[in-house]
Amino acid sequence: MTGATFPFDPVDLPTLKQWLAAQDDAQGALRPVDIGEILIGPGALLDLPDVLLRAGIKPGANIQLVMDETPMWRDDVELKPFVRELLYVAGYQESTLHLEDEDYGSVHADFDSVESAVWGLEEGFLGTPATAIIGLGSGTVTDITKHAAYVYNQKHPDRPRMVYICIPTANSVTAYAASMAVLLKDGVKRTVPSCYPDVILCDLRVLACAPKEMTLAGLGDCCARFVAYGDWYLASALGLVDYYSEVPLALLDNLDTILLEHAGSIGQRSHAGEAIVMRALLLAGIAQSIVNMSAPISGTEHVISHVLDMIADHYERGLALHGAQVGVATITAAGLYQRFLDKFDPAAINIDACYPADEPLQRYIRHIFRAIDPTGAMARECWSDYSKKLALWRQKRPQFEQFCANWQETFRPKLASLVRGPQVVQRILEKAGAPLTIAALDPPISQKEYDFAVRNGHFIRQRFVLGDLLYFLGWE
Ligand SMILES: [Zn+2]
Repeated sequence: MTGATFPFDPVDLPTLKQWLAAQDDAQGALRPVDIGEILIGPGALLDLPDVLLRAGIKPGANIQLVMDETPMWRDDVELKPFVRELLYVAGYQESTLHLEDEDYGSVHADFDSVESAVWGLEEGFLGTPATAIIGLGSGTVTDITKHAAYVYNQKHPDRPRMVYICIPTANSVTAYAASMAVLLKDGVKRTVPSCYPDVILCDLRVLACAPKEMTLAGLGDCCARFVAYGDWYLASALGLVDYYSEVPLALLDNLDTILLEHAGSIGQRSHAGEAIVMRALLLAGIAQSIVNMSAPISGTEHVISHVLDMIADHYERGLALHGAQVGVATITAAGLYQRFLDKFDPAAINIDACYPADEPLQRYIRHIFRAIDPTGAMARECWSDYSKKLALWRQKRPQFEQFCANWQETFRPKLASLVRGPQVVQRILEKAGAPLTIAALDPPISQKEYDFAVRNGHFIRQRFVLGDLLYFLGWE
């Protein structure tokens, strides 16, 4: 036991905000953390009435509660009626927006759902406008509620600001403390600017009652940092992104040691274990929000996961939990990094051969996506992003030559310090009992699908990842 701790406790927001404000960011790109308070504890939910008062919402006010249809528990008490009762006893008027299940039994985070929530806030299901919105749920409910508050405040700058309270019901995603929302637009996932919650109430009794797979998925999603930071740095070293910062990295310092140390307790669903996953998820959400991009915790492993989601319909299967899939893909991506760090030899490459022409590549992308989407729309969408990346890669050839010349002295050690080996990720996930292989995912994913996603993930995103470099180098 090393007793490693997070560099910041997200509950202590004043300290975190003070530190952030003092970070010298020459590019002036760091954004403040506009969260009012975060509570984490076995009884955090009971503070809801006090939290509302502190946020300026007085008894008698209308509050809109957003939730899905899944039954949830807080120990032996049913959670949803319990929250309504809490509000009622405290003297609040409450109306509930029930989000309905769509295909494969899950709610979709789409703009239609956001619209109905905004309508509820404006008109009020009770006949008078709401003053606060509470999202009681996990990723999808959170994204819809958050974005409804954001849209409402944008639409009505003249009215009092809508207070948004986030009550996470599972330790499954980084969305809770993030100021962006991930929403479906025409069936494609888009990350859009949104807002922070005013308050996040993390009740450990609630989190410990969520299905175990969800906590393990949250753990898997956190592991993305062990690969993603390498991707972001690599893109910056090659001149392919304008902005790179290690301030988010500092927020996630010690993450490997902490997760390794607590993986057993996380797997046992102890309150202590749930609190560790929640703190990691909150810090990860803040890490991406302060730079306004997902780069610190989304790289190669996430593009693999996104491709698996994109091809799910074609293979007639439902989606595995996002974080579970990301965890497995992180082991793979960490393996790719290990191989690259061990084997990349700049003296042995033909730089001219690293710059493919547009034509054959466009044809190749059309070819690989044809089976999955015969209309060609998917290939066109990918090419429109990818062609920009390709043009930039050509333009920045001098940076790649520099990278090769200084690989051993500068770039290799730096990159090695940012990523973690596949054994570390595997040990964390294994100790907690999380899925380690595609066969262990629910539903399981075939080797054929997975190989496709690993080989082609880099084609779907504009931001450069290791897979791009390996492709240009001709590695299989
Ligand atoms: Zn993720």
